[in-house]
Amino acid sequence: MPRVHIKTYGCQMNERDTEQVSQMFVERGYTMTATDTDADVVLINTCSVRDQAEQKALGKMGMVRRRRIPLVTGFMGCMAQSRGSELVDKASVDLVVGTQKYHRVVDYVDEIIRKKEATLMDDERFSIVDVEEEEQSQNTIRDHTLKEKQASAFVSIMQGCNMKCTFCIVPYTRGEERGRPIADIVEEVKRLADRGVKEVTLLGQIVNLYGRHEFPVVDGKSPFVQLLEAVHEVPGIQRIRFTSPHPIGYKKDLIEAFTYLPKLAEHVHLPVQSGSDAILKRMHRPYSTAKFIDLIERIRAARPGIAVTTDVIVGFPGETEEHYLETRALFEKLRFDNAFVFRYSKRRGTPAAEMEDALQVPEKVKEERNQDLLALVNSIALPMYDALVGKDVEILCEGPSKTNSERLTGRTGSNRIVVFDGNPARHTGEIFKVRIKEAGHFTLFGDPVMLG
Ligand code: SF4
Repeated sequence: MPRVHIKTYGCQMNERDTEQVSQMFVERGYTMTATDTDADVVLINTCSVRDQAEQKALGKMGMVRRRRIPLVTGFMGCMAQSRGSELVDKASVDLVVGTQKYHRVVDYVDEIIRKKEATLMDDERFSIVDVEEEEQSQNTIRDHTLKEKQASAFVSIMQGCNMKCTFCIVPYTRGEERGRPIADIVEEVKRLADRGVKEVTLLGQIVNLYGRHEFPVVDGKSPFVQLLEAVHEVPGIQRIRFTSPHPIGYKKDLIEAFTYLPKLAEHVHLPVQSGSDAILKRMHRPYSTAKFIDLIERIRAARPGIAVTTDVIVGFPGETEEHYLETRALFEKLRFDNAFVFRYSKRRGTPAAEMEDALQVPEKVKEERNQDLLALVNSIALPMYDALVGKDVEILCEGPSKTNSERLTGRTGSNRIVVFDGNPARHTGEIFKVRIKEAGHFTLFGDPVMLG
């Protein structure tokens, strides 16, 4: 059977979709390969959220095809959804599959191979483009390919987003919000736990608004909190994470959940996007900085010591120096444990990309604000790492470190990376304590003190 390689760019959602498609290929008898050089089928799953990811994906496909033309090449994911058949001409690929059709990828590849073999001409062009919507497509991302001793897994609980933030392409590439039934998600988590998974991360573009259109509020609890409670009951699951939430979905019931669901990891990632009310309004983010501050304070009160991280965009159209300084002041006040700072870049098809040229912030200014804010984030966050030296932290060991395969790596509940010398067979997939000896740049180093 042909060998398949899927390269993924973008978010955890894309990684999760790739895992699902890979599993479907394996079930159909295909072999997955780690590199594209020996693959007969090369697919790229990429997002459209940042221009950089699109450019990388197009560059990668160009490189693959220049080296050797595989039997089948294709794009799937958000970029495929937003560009559609344009990619067949632009990148000479055989297949373009949108975000609601991942479950059709294997059939399409089969079909292209059959047609090509029938003509005995591998470079014959039989392109298939499918970017249609499909009801219930959110229920098709549910299978997992786990590595040996893998103890952490992503679970996709919904697709789409109705928020229409003016900078974001997601509502146009992932469609309307659609949640999976709680029972199906819990069954998936149980199957993962039976295979040794201890930590699940629930995924959705707007995860804490999960199910708001499909399922009722029960006893004052939103569908998302009902889901958290149900997943919390699954034996074997010891940590629950979720990403990415929206501030407006952080209601009283979700904050309270941090007080009585101990498996909820002590970390929230909550994108603020700007510290200026004027810019938030322009971004179509329906909260004020005062509300955001109050929210973070209530989350910190509910679970003392919880780590809070955020996303922020600098240089959004119309952002003046004064607006930027408001963002800076917000960061000084809230003292995030870490933050992803993005320079605004236009995404084709979004309202912000249509904002007048006069409002666009020069690249140089964006870069200066980016560097300045990053320096502030580091100056606040890195001492928090130093303060952990000499302390014991509990980690879930993920296996060999990506940067040094001689050492092992794991994450604390607060999502801090810890690197240590250990025994891969004994430690991988286990939760235990590590005594911190040293703090580096957003990484801790230590020695295991006990097996949990
Ligand atoms: S809530 Fe998130 S996914 Fe939805 S439009 Fe806004 S940024 Fe995009």
